[in-house]
Amino acid sequence: SWPHSLIFDKQHLLHRLYTLQQQDRHISAETIVRVAGEFNLPVSQVASVVDFYSFFYRKPVGRYHMLLSNCTSCGYQAGKTDLLKMLCRSLNVDPGVTRADGLVSISETSCIGMCDHGASMLINGIPLVGLDETKVTRIAGLVEQQLTLCQWPQDWFQITRSIRQSGMLLNNTGSSGNSLTKALSAGPGRTLDMIEHSGLRGRGGAGFSAGKKWRLCREATGDAHYVVCNADEGEPGTFKDRVLLQCHAGALFEGMTICALVIGARKGYLYLRGEYRYLLAHLQEALELHYSNNLLGCSILGHAGFDFDIEIVVGAGAYICGEESALIESLEGKPGVPRIRPPFPVTHGYLGQPTAVNNVETFIAAAYIVTHGSDNFRMAGTEQSTGSKILSVSGDCRNPGIYEYAFGVSIQEILDDCGADNVQAVQIGGPAGTLVAHRDFRRRISFEGVSTGGSFLVFGENRDLLTVNQNFARFFAHESCGFCTPCRVGTRLMEGSLQKIVDGRAVAADIEEIKRLSSLIMRYSHCGLGHTAANHMLDSLRQFPGLFEKRIMQQAFSPQIDLEAALETARQITHRDDADAHLD
Ligand code: SF4
Repeated sequence: SWPHSLIFDKQHLLHRLYTLQQQDRHISAETIVRVAGEFNLPVSQVASVVDFYSFFYRKPVGRYHMLLSNCTSCGYQAGKTDLLKMLCRSLNVDPGVTRADGLVSISETSCIGMCDHGASMLINGIPLVGLDETKVTRIAGLVEQQLTLCQWPQDWFQITRSIRQSGMLLNNTGSSGNSLTKALSAGPGRTLDMIEHSGLRGRGGAGFSAGKKWRLCREATGDAHYVVCNADEGEPGTFKDRVLLQCHAGALFEGMTICALVIGARKGYLYLRGEYRYLLAHLQEALELHYSNNLLGCSILGHAGFDFDIEIVVGAGAYICGEESALIESLEGKPGVPRIRPPFPVTHGYLGQPTAVNNVETFIAAAYIVTHGSDNFRMAGTEQSTGSKILSVSGDCRNPGIYEYAFGVSIQEILDDCGADNVQAVQIGGPAGTLVAHRDFRRRISFEGVSTGGSFLVFGENRDLLTVNQNFARFFAHESCGFCTPCRVGTRLMEGSLQKIVDGRAVAADIEEIKRLSSLIMRYSHCGLGHTAANHMLDSLRQFPGLFEKRIMQQAFSPQIDLEAALETARQITHRDDADAHLD
């Protein structure tokens, strides 16, 4: 089913690169040439893929390769001690540099979706949670002893489900084929009517009507139609898909199969974020169960002519691949650079064919609707936001975890449930979302109120919001795919401006510059990442202006960039150190 250039020896390009990297601990120039030959691709295309994804390495990483999550919520700086520095010190290694004996390398990475488990890391791709000073000391000892991860305390790798409040979706544990049986007896047209009538909107945050998307895709002409599940949740503070994939994979596969029935697809892909690779075996097992129960494969549940297969493709650490057209590019074995739209994926998606892309929660909701009826679904929620929303709650609260509410729940109600006291603000929908201050906690979660893909980050009164902004700015600068200048350069400048404020080197004009820069990034960037990258800054400036003003300590302007220092690389490359190669 894969086009020849994307598949070799039954492996997708990303998987092949990952396998070879596992053997050599990096991807060498020779490996790139070899893979290009295997896949019949230009060497430059394979090289661009390797360079695009954070989890591919050109230089060898350590036999113990650790990536500490720098998410605001679960980050290694959350406590008093900077755990990354401590770990590096204990193992005598610099961040981002492999130790000379090749034993260990330590870096940081964006949110790994373990925000309900405290400070966390990926070690050789496997999540290790609940980091603290004691654990870091023990980890250093275990690494030096070169014990395999199987010999480490196994409770360090225990990822709990932490479901704190269940509603219609989380209570619905069945993957018995119920919803699929009903969809098959209703037929594709009436099933689509049901989804449309339910008012289901995509749960990723933008809220486009799922029924409308499916209808547009069904009506689009093409050689083939595709179903794609976006399981690439990378918004810092979001981890609900992790739990859904763990506990409700069956309902997800049924939702995807129902979509296939409606749009006339024979092939579907589950694009799993690289940080959740550890779930792959579980998901493959759930898939096999569906095949053995004839819920997938040929003549599904005895319906001749209804054939549908699902394959899982694992990403390699790129937040931008959560954007649907970037995800499709990645599925096609390319760097995940967002496409120019229109045309939209519903008409020109995977391999240029009509493609319905929805996220994990949306497909599970679709399966629920077919089982229980659209009226049942509409009974929960509000006029424009029907059904429920699953939230990932973390930050300064006693009970972080997964909470499912009918749309329309107030922010205050969620704070009461998760045990959050003395809260100054909540970041809803991740860094690209909305910062809501204390006085607005009566606002409600819905598409017409405060919209969210699922992240709900609580900031207690002792939290320095400026460092939160700094963390978010760094996140966007790191995750910008670099395709367009306003985002690539603008997010870096934003990071630098914030650093100036935090360091006490800013003047009042710097605040105005941040506003001007924000507007430029938002207006002229190519995709949603750039359009929303400054939301957090503008929200903070609007709601907590004092936060910035009290850090303005200087009257005289100082530049953000040390030009003399910035020229050093150029001097080295050109082998020049004469007077003309310096500014003064
Ligand atoms: Fe890439 Fe940013 Fe431009 Fe989007 S806005 S295409 S992430 S550089």
